[in-house]
This record gives sequence, structure tokens and C-alpha cells, in this order.
Amino acid sequence: MERKCHECDEPLPAGALFYQCQVEFISGYDEDHPYSGGETDENIDTLVSRLEEQDPQDVMDDVYQKIEFVLCPVCRKRMAGELQKRFARHTETKKMAKIVPLQPKKD
Ligand SMILES: [Zn+2]
Repeated sequence: MERKCHECDEPLPAGALFYQCQVEFISGYDEDHPYSGGETDENIDTLVSRLEEQDPQDVMDDVYQKIEFVLCPVCRKRMAGELQKRFARHTETKKMAKIVPLQPKKD
């Protein structure tokens, strides 16, 4: 199967440089979260009734979602620049972008 850039559809032939990208959405909460007060029967009942009304995939995505895609060097550079610019006003994002190196997949 021929590899292509998922952004621009440019073919990425064998031996060509490409980027495996992952975006992870990991849910976070603090002590003000309505369910962080302990597992009382009332909290569990409320949570169960909420879960029964929702699509299972939506529930899982609310907790954790990972999107994977392949980019060519041109699209990687453009997308990384756009993301850094988009979140540049947040100090934490700037810090993470500088500190967290991309690790190659070890399969
Ligand atoms: Zn591309």
C-alpha cells in the first residue's frame, strides 16, 4: 500500500522522510469535579444514568481520544507552526512544546 500524506495526499515513496503524528486528548479534572467527592451511592447513580443516555464511543472519547496520521515534511512543518502559534499564549503549552521531545515508536 502506497503511503501518502494525510494532509496533502502527496505520495511518500519508500525511503522518503515522513512523520507519524499522534494527537491525544486526555481528560483532566480537579477537586471541583462533581464526581471527585468520593464514590457515594448518589454519585454512582447519577453517573450510571448519565452513561446509559450516551453513545458508548462518545463516553470513551470523553475520557481519552487519540488521533493518528502521517504527514510529509512540508505539512509537518506547517502544522507544527500553526499549533505552536495557536497555543502560544499559554505558558504551559510553550513549556511542553520545548521540553517534550518526540519519541520514535518502539515496537
Ligand atoms: Zn503533506
